[in-house]
Amino acid sequence: MGDNYIAWLSNLSKADLNLAGGKGANLGEMYNNKFPVPPAFVVTTDAFFYFLKEAKLEQKIKDILNTIKVDNTDDLTEKAKEIRKLITESEMPENLQNEITEAYDHFNVDLDDFHNSPGALAILKSSRESIFVSVRSSATAEDLGDASFAGQQSSFINVKGNPELIQKIKECFASIFTARSIYYRKKKGFEGLVGIAAIVQKMINSDKSGVIFSRNPVKNNDEILIEAVFGQGEGIVSGTIKPDQHTLTRDLELIQEKISDKKVAIIRTSGGETKTIQLTPEKSNSRVLKTYELKQLAEFAIKLEEHYDKPQDIEFAIENENIYILQTRPITTLKKTETKEADLDGQILTEGMAASPGVASGIVKIIHSMDDLGKIKQGDILVTTMTNPDMVVSMQKAAAIVTSEGGVTAHAAIVSREMGIPAIVGAQDCMEKLKDGDEITVDGFHGKVFAGKAENKSVKILPVVDTKTKIKVMVDLPQFAERAAKTNADGVGLIRLEGLIASSGKHPVAYEKENKLDDYKKMLKEGLLKIAETFIGKPIWIRSSDIRSDEYANLEGAPKEIEKNPMLGDHGIRFSLKHPGIFKAELMACKELADKGHKFGVMFPQIISVDEVKQARAIFNELKIDNVQFGVMIETPAASILIKDICEEGIDFISFGTNDLTQYTLAIDRGNEEVQNIYDEMNWAVLKQISRVIRECKKHNVETSICGQAGSKPEMVEFLVKQGIDSISVNADVAKQISELVQKLENEKSIEPIDNKESIKEELRERENLQKEVGNNSENPQQEVGNNSENPQQEVGKKPGFLTSDIEIIDEHKPEDIFN
Ligand code: PEP
Ligand code: MG
Repeated sequence: MGDNYIAWLSNLSKADLNLAGGKGANLGEMYNNKFPVPPAFVVTTDAFFYFLKEAKLEQKIKDILNTIKVDNTDDLTEKAKEIRKLITESEMPENLQNEITEAYDHFNVDLDDFHNSPGALAILKSSRESIFVSVRSSATAEDLGDASFAGQQSSFINVKGNPELIQKIKECFASIFTARSIYYRKKKGFEGLVGIAAIVQKMINSDKSGVIFSRNPVKNNDEILIEAVFGQGEGIVSGTIKPDQHTLTRDLELIQEKISDKKVAIIRTSGGETKTIQLTPEKSNSRVLKTYELKQLAEFAIKLEEHYDKPQDIEFAIENENIYILQTRPITTLKKTETKEADLDGQILTEGMAASPGVASGIVKIIHSMDDLGKIKQGDILVTTMTNPDMVVSMQKAAAIVTSEGGVTAHAAIVSREMGIPAIVGAQDCMEKLKDGDEITVDGFHGKVFAGKAENKSVKILPVVDTKTKIKVMVDLPQFAERAAKTNADGVGLIRLEGLIASSGKHPVAYEKENKLDDYKKMLKEGLLKIAETFIGKPIWIRSSDIRSDEYANLEGAPKEIEKNPMLGDHGIRFSLKHPGIFKAELMACKELADKGHKFGVMFPQIISVDEVKQARAIFNELKIDNVQFGVMIETPAASILIKDICEEGIDFISFGTNDLTQYTLAIDRGNEEVQNIYDEMNWAVLKQISRVIRECKKHNVETSICGQAGSKPEMVEFLVKQGIDSISVNADVAKQISELVQKLENEKSIEPIDNKESIKEELRERENLQKEVGNNSENPQQEVGNNSENPQQEVGKKPGFLTSDIEIIDEHKPEDIFN
């Protein structure tokens, strides 16, 4: 056609941003500098505009865009959907379709081999089966410089055949009109239509794959570090497979290597599905890469670093002995790209519980009281007995946090995880062993503190995969909502209002005393709006305040009384009902935002009686709130025992607060490091309650979810999915990993959801027989689960004894069950 609708990588360079989008231009740049990127062509922005013009969409889209009220979420979401539908349902001009399918055909044959034989080429083209390709959007507007915007467009893998290809290209084109990207463009005053291209790239069926760091990020020297696994590289990225590690000098001399027991490989089946397979012990312990491959890879790393003039973190794949570079990006110390667990060597100064993953070095600042907080400068390591959530502002400046007290469900640990700051809790001697001014490295993956400095590492946030059980994230602080949104999760399963309250520095009772509850409402509204804007169109569940007196004693105007047992003290719904003004301000903040179209739910913490639910409902009604879901936290044994009656009150959803449910069920203080070794959310007493509550809720059509830390643990997730939970809230850093596990469990379909009792019983019987056979008939099932927790994913579906007939015993077949 003579137009620029299709561009092969050989015709593109970084100057072609407008034609090929950011990603497309960068791929062209790599290709033309002789880096072996998988073959690809770009369906250009010219093609996109041509399609809009021929399908008469341009004006229609502009008209819709002009009428959108971006601050009205319903309107925004609906109109964005309408535009996308226009694009995906319009016919692409035939000549454009032909150009695309012709280019796609060219992937099917190795053109070099048939260069001199056009006849053979024609036969091959018509006889071969289509190959798998990925189709990725490549937007030109990414240079608006807004990362959140850049991450919005769609990508598809394992696309095959002409109709699917054309459809996915249309979907890529349409993805420039998501509610969020329209919102951002409008807010940034960006008028007119933005161009988007689609990259069609041959999928590499990796025999082996891995990552190369052109400079060792752990030791921070100029050695080249290569890590490799069999099959696809996702196992490295998600940290589920321990890769082989090789270190080479810049003269390509191999100076060190560790061959690991990789156990499994992730492969793509001929049907295009991703599957995890077990390796034989021999294969598992064998070296993945040949020496000449290591040298070739190291050479590419040096060249890529030279080309981009920055140390690079490179993903590679090898198919039929051919090396492909899949992606390269700079290694930076500020914005770290490393994802898997670090393996540091050196002098260990102290150890504790790994509470938030990542590695960071910095100067120790010992904090004895709030007055010392001024000492903390950007990048320091905060060392203290126990951080309170009201230290949140200083915590944000810290590169890492080490505490002598606490457990991993302590709010300090939870907040560190949300911020992506490495943290270790319960390092009992840290206040003595670490000295002000020392330079140390905190390894939050393993709970170890080392002398000296290493390269910082943080966990990359990756998007979730599709699952039927919804995966949500927890967000307590608006500043970190963008980080959590990178997961593309299905919504927010918990916002603790305390995050906003701590950031404001003022206790709600102070607002109440000063008659300034409107200011309180305004403060909450502003914070909640920021989070809501990041999760437009998705459900967001907010928890009314749950302010423990020990944690928030330092806020302005905080009550002065010191409670003996703050965990069991005046907080949660019992506090809210005593302070209706505060409670109503919180509810009205939600209502007023819901009136703008945000999909909110509110849940009440520390519920112990039906009467509390009734009182909360009465206040809801008094405030005429009819556009916010009404939910209850199940985090006390009382609530779990009373679930049937609570459901009968007409609630919309429940969410398990397993941090407290475990604490109150087992009588173990979740904040006391001395007893953390027996704090176990997988204790059978906790699991039985969860099982029963889910079943009861299903009978009453009440949605079920979890927002305690245990939702980020694979062993709990396995249990919950099999019980038929509706959604799981996770920490952003494990969202992808957990979603993959859920997807796998859902595909296995080994147990139907709990309401299908017969198949469960059958499964349980089978498991029990198996248990007997292997002579592993455990008396204490939860301990077995605990033993698996090192690497539970690999045990999924094959460990007998995980579910026992105990589940059967607690179902409604026992009408005399005292709980009912
Ligand atoms: C819980 O108890 O599990 C929960 C989510 O609430 P918090 O951690 O704030 O007590
Ligand atoms: Mg709780």
